[in-house]
Amino acid sequence: MADLDACDACGNHVLEARRVLDATVHECELCGHLHGPAEVLELLELQREAEALGCSEFSFPLARFLDRLPGVKLLGDSGGNEKLGTMPYLAFELSDHRTWQLENLGQALRLMRGELERDWMIEFSFEYQLGFELRTRGDGKAGHTQVEIDAARRDLLRLWRRLQGYQTLSWWKRA
Ligand SMILES: [Zn+2]
Repeated sequence: MADLDACDACGNHVLEARRVLDATVHECELCGHLHGPAEVLELLELQREAEALGCSEFSFPLARFLDRLPGVKLLGDSGGNEKLGTMPYLAFELSDHRTWQLENLGQALRLMRGELERDWMIEFSFEYQLGFELRTRGDGKAGHTQVEIDAARRDLLRLWRRLQGYQTLSWWKRA
């Protein structure tokens, strides 16, 4: 991709390089076409979709992933808010009233412990009936710094990326 000199879509020669998730993507300045690794392009497409829907670009990819898991229904998500100092979280319920997807998510968090910047947990929530929240430990209060919020946002994308791979492995429980 480093020697890319023309846009695949329109042939324009002005491509802007951007770093996303440890990869380089090139965006055509003329037509907006993106060139780069498929998984990173998917993320950028999801972030554009989030923007169009008025959702947080930080939590939307993982929120959509969770909502599409069998037996899981997304109840709400936040990518964090730097003005209020609140941390990102995702709220969901188990629509089939079984715990297998909690086991999958819990195992994923365990495997990713060394890779995540914040300490993530799945908390039973009283906000919603039989609800759960995926959030960082001790984030209940406002007043979190931009540095903390940014770290949690990077973790949301790491989780989104890893979970897609974990889903194909033998330990991942299927219905
Ligand atoms: Zn183009």
